[in-house]
Amino acid sequence: MKIICIGRNYADHAKEFNNDVPEKPIFFFKPDTSIITRNRPFFYPDFSEEIHFETEIVLKISRLGKNIAPKFAHRYYREFTLGIDLTARDRQKECKKNGWPWEIAKGFEGSAPIGRFVPVEDYDDIHKLNFHLNINDEQAQKGNTADMIFSFEDIIAYVSQFLTLKMGDLIFTGTPAGVGPVKINDRLTGYVENKKLIDFRVK
Ligand code: MG
Repeated sequence: MKIICIGRNYADHAKEFNNDVPEKPIFFFKPDTSIITRNRPFFYPDFSEEIHFETEIVLKISRLGKNIAPKFAHRYYREFTLGIDLTARDRQKECKKNGWPWEIAKGFEGSAPIGRFVPVEDYDDIHKLNFHLNINDEQAQKGNTADMIFSFEDIIAYVSQFLTLKMGDLIFTGTPAGVGPVKINDRLTGYVENKKLIDFRVK
């Protein structure tokens, strides 16, 4: 399976890093070894001093598809969760400055904690979903999927032009503004419409 991550999918987050709002989705990959499930802890790595959280809705692809038309894209996922796109911001800045790939900043061990999956049909409209992250019980970041530049369907249609999506693949759909650092001993809890989907510690 593969993990596809969309960058700059909320205009307010693009602005906080002085990035232009993209005309088409930007994506990168994380390896399967970046996934943390079942609320297991994330171990802070020694190669970074600036690990940031990015709170994102994560889709699970439910069927095989290539060149998926936007109008059919909704048929390709049935569940979603909340995930944290952990980013070694100091290493990412170094990569950007030098024009290097981002893998060490984005794909390191444990860089993709994900919560429990919930069915799409449990929600009236997943295109207007409120979600938020608390750190140590204080709200650290919030967003609404209505503010996405590219919808879930746009993303699936776009990415599937370049590669086959397979059952079980995950798509991190981008973060709103308000990213920030995590520290050892922090407890991160993530909610979609007040339902807690993820709860883990940094060690
Ligand atoms: Mg992200």
